This record gives sequence, C-alpha cells and structure tokens, in this order.
Amino acid sequence: MNHIEVNELSKSYSDIEALKNLSLGIEAGTLFGILGPNGAGKSTLIKILATLIEPDSGEVFINNINLIKNSRKIRELIGYVAQDIALDKILTGRELLDFQSDLYHINKNKKIERIQKLVDQLKMHDWIDRKCGTYSGGMKRRVDLAAGLLHLPQVLILDEPTVGLDIESRNIIWQLLKDLRNNGMTIILSSHYLDEIDKLADKLVIIDNGRVIAQGTPSQLKNKLGGDRITLKVKEFSNQKEAEKIGQILSSIDGISQIIINESQGFSINFVADKEKDLLTKLKVELAFSKFEIFSLTQSQPSLDDVYLQATGKTLLDAEISMAGKRDFKKESKQSMR
Ligand code: ADP
Ligand code: MG
Repeated sequence: MNHIEVNELSKSYSDIEALKNLSLGIEAGTLFGILGPNGAGKSTLIKILATLIEPDSGEVFINNINLIKNSRKIRELIGYVAQDIALDKILTGRELLDFQSDLYHINKNKKIERIQKLVDQLKMHDWIDRKCGTYSGGMKRRVDLAAGLLHLPQVLILDEPTVGLDIESRNIIWQLLKDLRNNGMTIILSSHYLDEIDKLADKLVIIDNGRVIAQGTPSQLKNKLGGDRITLKVKEFSNQKEAEKIGQILSSIDGISQIIINESQGFSINFVADKEKDLLTKLKVELAFSKFEIFSLTQSQPSLDDVYLQATGKTLLDAEISMAGKRDFKKESKQSMR
C-alpha cells in the first residue's frame, strides 16, 4: 500500500493550468523524485502536498488521511522545505531552531537534544550561533532543512533543495536525505537537476506541463529506451531540411530507432542503436551514398535527459529556455507554513 496517494489533481492560476489530472503513488520509506523543467508544475504539486494551497479538484491521502479535509493533522506528519527561503535575519540559526521547536511544543530536553543532533548531521557547528543574516545560501538551506525536521516528520517534502548551492552544502544535504530514507522516512524531492534525481531517487516521475510523462525507477526509465544513445552531426551546424533528410536515411536502417532532431544542438540527430556490430559501417555507407559525411558521433548510456527527450522531443535544457521566455510573473507568491 502506498504511503501517499495523489489522485487526479488539477490546479490553475487564472488561465494557466499548472496541474492537469495528475496522479501518483509513493511507497513508505522511499525517496521519491519529481523531475521537470521550470514551469512544469513541481512547486504547485509540492505546495498542495505541504497543505499550503488547495487543488481545484482531486484528492491526496497520506496514511489514508484525506489531506485536504484534515490539513492540521497532516501538518503534524510532514516537514516542508520551501524553494524560497525566508529566514529571520536577526536571530541566530540556533535561536531560530529553538523558536521553531517551541511552535511544535517540543519539550525542553528533547529540544536541545534534537537541535544538537541536527547541528551535527548538517555540520553547522561553526556558524549556527551566528545571525542568520550573515549566512550563505547553503547555510540558510541547511538551517531551513533542520527546521523542517525538528518535529520528526514521517514525510519530508523538499522543493528544489539544492538549487544554486555550493557543493559542500549539496553533499551534506544529499547524505542526510539518504540517511533519513534509510531510517524509514518517506521523502519527496523536486528538482530540475537530472543527476540529483538520478543519484538519489528510488523512484521518480517526470512532469512536464502539469502532467506525468514518465515514471519508474531511474534504471527502469533509462533501460526502457533500449540501447545506447547516439548523437550524430554531419556539420557543426546543420539546418532543418538537412537534418530531416538525414533522419529519413537513418530511419531506413534496420536497428536504428527513436530518431529525434535536436534543434538547439545545431540540428544534431539523436537516436538509439541496437547493439549490433556493423551498424556504424552501415551508417557511414548510407550517409556517403547521399553525400553526407560524419562531423561527429558520440555515444552514451541513456540518461534521464534522454528519457525526457524521448517523451517530449526536447531536452530539459531546451524546455527551460522556452519556459524562461514564457514566465509572466517575477516571483512566486511567497507562502510559508512557518
Ligand atoms: P515549477 O516549480 O516546476 O517551476 P510551478 O508549479 O511553479 O512550476 O509553476 C507551474 C506553472 O504555473 C507555470 O506556468 C507558472 O508560471 C504558473 N504559476 C505558478 N505559480 C503561479 C502563481 N502564483 N500565479 C500565476 N501563475 C503561477
Ligand atoms: Mg518550483
């Protein structure tokens, strides 16, 4: 049975449909990744799970408890780390955690013990007694994560926790998330970093435009693509017509499949090749026959970006670039449950 069940969630902001009938299930004790480009709907989904906003329709259950009808009860079960951090500048990190513990009615002895444990786990000794106003992004994020863990939640929900962080902070956060998962916590993590989800997640969904476009374990998703990914260029920069012609040539070769023309990479051609030995020779012959030469040919094991590319016809990076043009508001409305 799933620890968390999300059924057919929809949510719009005036005319923008951020989530479209989105469903998913999360097993207890897993680290569950939500991967998608900016604008995909990750924060909207996360904020609904954190009881900060309500969907227009659909249901969510955690421990079989209806989240929308019992948001107070759900808040006791979950810890939330927002995408935008707003820490008080005057308090020290320790004072802030102390204050937060009081909000959760944690008794004095437990409070001191828990704060100290989190200071150790997140390696915050050197600066936890300094004012938050002096912290780097990575320090703020670590304090914020600690604050979300003080009441020992069953479920931890994090929205892009490592965006823009220094490598040390990122590694410390990754390690803590793995430890917490190994101790049975259910963790939901959104990210637009492929390698983060690939390394950390037991299972993931890829969301695009408010919909789930792929789900499974990282290796299931990558293996589904078949053989290795090959990227072919006949010139440094081709044009569309040329790329389409090459696409046609490739599609006539047995063992080549899933051909995609990648405009942002100078109309390179991306495809999957069966692990057949003489495919490269065949390819060269066929191209030469139409007076094309190979400018470059790279081969790689499939990544989650290839999964995304296969599902949408564009790379995650392309999706980010096209989304950046569409973004019509500066800052997401800042909401916080603290
Ligand atoms: P992500 O976290 O994946 O970047 P979001 O959930 O923040 O995606 O956004 C999904 C879509 O909803 C985007 O098109 C975004 O522009 C829009 N959106 C998000 N929050 C708001 C808001 N408060 N008002 C209007 N549009 C919003
Ligand atoms: Mg977001």
